[in-house]
Amino acid sequence: MDRRFLLSPAERCPIIVLDDITLVRLPIGDHALLKTVKKRAKVAAGALLARHSSPNVGDFHSPFDGVIKDITGTFIEIEYEAPPPPAQAVAEGAEGAPPAKAPVEDDISAKVEPRSLDGFDAVALGRLLKELGVDIRPFTRPCDLFIINAINPEPGMVYAEELLRSYMPVVEAGFAMLRRLNDAPKFVLALPSGSNARLEGASSHTVRPEYPISLARPLIKAITGREDTSRVTLVRLLAVFQLGLVARSGLPLTHTVATAFGNNVFAPLGTPVSTLLEKAALKPVEGDSVILGGAMRGVAISGLRRGLRKIDDALGLIRKGSKPDLSDNPCINCGACVSVCPMRLRPNMLSRYAEFGLYDFCRKEYIETCIECGMCGHICPSCRPMQQHFRMAKHCLGLHTFQHVLRQ
Ligand code: SF4
Ligand code: SF4
Repeated sequence: MDRRFLLSPAERCPIIVLDDITLVRLPIGDHALLKTVKKRAKVAAGALLARHSSPNVGDFHSPFDGVIKDITGTFIEIEYEAPPPPAQAVAEGAEGAPPAKAPVEDDISAKVEPRSLDGFDAVALGRLLKELGVDIRPFTRPCDLFIINAINPEPGMVYAEELLRSYMPVVEAGFAMLRRLNDAPKFVLALPSGSNARLEGASSHTVRPEYPISLARPLIKAITGREDTSRVTLVRLLAVFQLGLVARSGLPLTHTVATAFGNNVFAPLGTPVSTLLEKAALKPVEGDSVILGGAMRGVAISGLRRGLRKIDDALGLIRKGSKPDLSDNPCINCGACVSVCPMRLRPNMLSRYAEFGLYDFCRKEYIETCIECGMCGHICPSCRPMQQHFRMAKHCLGLHTFQHVLRQ
């Protein structure tokens, strides 16, 4: 096994709970802010701040009590502030009792109480979970086989086994909720070989933990023996974990887990990248790159102010000079990329067509089946920017790209 592509760490990397985060920047994307969300407004932990128009995309909530410091087109900045002490209970109408307040619509400073999630059918439950911040799209897709992918997505990401070791009750709660949302006849927990984790109600399937087996298409093929993915749904363990956080508390989703700069952290959504760098005692210098996502598929980000999103499961730092720079060197026809492509494509030809804007030829080379695993670019001795070419070609052809998901 090539150790560079190993997906199971040799040593444990416990999840560190970051309970001292005092400033978050919630990346609101295309969510619509509530009209009460204004600068200097007080917010309560769990308060709804922004809704998404899609019934499948979770709404946004404040991870802690605080004050809104800034609102831009892309984020809401909230600074922690301790909530006021609870007022002493005085019977309504008694002497000294404050006049009863009329309820305020969309009051973001009101204490948030847990919601009961019992007794709903799948549709109503999905609606409620969306209101509680869960992206329910992957959970509700009809399928014959539902796979929970408990393999670390890329080399260097090390949170999956720690979720199973340290947060199993949360994962189980998420799985129980998932089964209420989806009546798939079969559930499979995909695990790295050697793992003995179990989920009641799901059969376990182990695979050799070597990248890119962790990606959807290779993993589905390894489990089903077929390349047809049409009636198969696959979700990351992290998504089930997030669902479990809501299932157990009845409170909105406000925290997540990620492998950030070598550490596994449990942190509020919106925790700035700069804060996570400080926690890891890292200081990028001119020429370094901060990568959102893993080493194989991640993209460099331009600013460290951005906050952690639900889909972010990794951040990394690449020091200047530690990797060869990509360049537009010509292909030398070594064939290495063809031999490693898990989708049996011809990345050498694809990249040439893409480089010169011959996108119709990219279609003829089945570019839509490229899973952007990065293996070809990783191995190319000419250091050609393979994924960049493919993403550009896909963009020009109107095809979905993995980069699009990362940048959302
Ligand atoms: S990124 Fe390269 S190796 Fe991976 S599927 Fe696409 S063409 Fe094949
Ligand atoms: S690995 Fe690079 S140089 Fe070799 S055939 Fe592929 S694109 Fe060309």
